[in-house]
Amino acid sequence: MMRLPSFTYLAPVSAADAVKLMADHGRDAMLVAGGTDLYPNMKRRQFEPKVLVGLRRIKELAGIGGTAATGITIGSGTTLTATSLHPEIARHYPALATAAGLVSTPQLRNMGTLGGNVCVDTRCNYYNQSYQWRKAVNFCMKKDGEICLVAPGSPRCWAVSSSDTAPVLWSLGATVRLLGPTGQRVVPISALYRDDGIEYLAKRPDELLTDIMLPPADGLRSAYLKLRRRGSFDFPVLGVAVALRMDGEVVREARIVLGAVASLPREAIDAGRLLSGQRLTPELIDDVASRGAGPSKPLDNTDLTHPYRKKMTRVFVRRALRAFAGLPSESEQA
Ligand SMILES: Cc1cc2nc3c(=O)[nH]c(=O)nc-3n(C[C@H](O)[C@H](O)[C@H](O)COP(=O)(O)OP(=O)(O)OC[C@H]3O[C@@H](n4cnc5c(N)ncnc54)[C@H](O)[C@@H]3O)c2cc1C
Ligand code: SF4
Repeated sequence: MMRLPSFTYLAPVSAADAVKLMADHGRDAMLVAGGTDLYPNMKRRQFEPKVLVGLRRIKELAGIGGTAATGITIGSGTTLTATSLHPEIARHYPALATAAGLVSTPQLRNMGTLGGNVCVDTRCNYYNQSYQWRKAVNFCMKKDGEICLVAPGSPRCWAVSSSDTAPVLWSLGATVRLLGPTGQRVVPISALYRDDGIEYLAKRPDELLTDIMLPPADGLRSAYLKLRRRGSFDFPVLGVAVALRMDGEVVREARIVLGAVASLPREAIDAGRLLSGQRLTPELIDDVASRGAGPSKPLDNTDLTHPYRKKMTRVFVRRALRAFAGLPSESEQA
């Protein structure tokens, strides 16, 4: 049985106090929201904080405000269950409701938060293992070791961004509010991620993610498709988020963002551009699906084979776009 190491738990009641505590304790401290990813990682000694700054007592971090007409603000401490069941989100931003509702299991979605999902650690078959397992292979550079066991000649870590909601929020054009010791800033969520399996977030460790903001829905259609071995609770090994803004039957703006194929969500920019100003015809959809799979370059460090994950990228983009166009799915065609 894996046990938690000892640590000090601090429970501030305001976001400002949480930030102050993080600044006071520096690299010894970590933030914890629902703890559904952080505590298992501590049990495996992937994280070894001496101090945890708990966010659960901070009321200002939980809750959903606004409307689809004006834009919606979701507090980072809002649970995944509350996010997925919120009527305005389910109706106008269905990709987000789907992604939040597909994370893990009902129990973990009741504890896990949207902020924790946005900031969740990257994953790799050689890293998400017990301490003893990792020790037996002499560790790797993400924790306790020197080299990358997936690409031994590589100077960097290729652990995989495995959040379900991150690619969706990126495709929706979401922004995030970060509160740090010197004040707050708002950045596009696309600027929150770095292409590095270790330093995967472009925020300072003492910055608290307070809110996630969705722009007005205005002609938005969105979908999220997830590939995993067990439909009941696995992490994604591929996530495809598609968001279109429509003027009638014409696509005004399109974003296709791929999850779990790199150390950060990857936008298929060329595929999105192909759609702009066009009607969704079967020929265009095939073209966009092929182009959309271009940035999907999974490595052999998560579940299922990487050629299969690459192939399924094209299938998922095509499937999402055909559904938007009211065309039959591949199986109905056969
Ligand atoms: C069996 C199992 C299956 C899972 N399946 C999935 C899955 O299918 N898809 C998926 O996406 N995830 C999955 N997870 C991971 C996890 O449950 C979710 O990502 C969850 O949303 C994490 O939220 P949390 O509030 O529990 O975060 P925590 O575990 O509390 O924190 C996660 C990380 O985010 C940081 N953090 C949390 N809140 C903030 C904040 N407000 N500001 C700055 N940093 C913050 C923490 O410091 C930590 O680094 C799974 C976990 C388990 C154990
Ligand atoms: S990609 Fe390499 S360095 Fe990163 S966790 Fe996996 S084995 Fe370790």
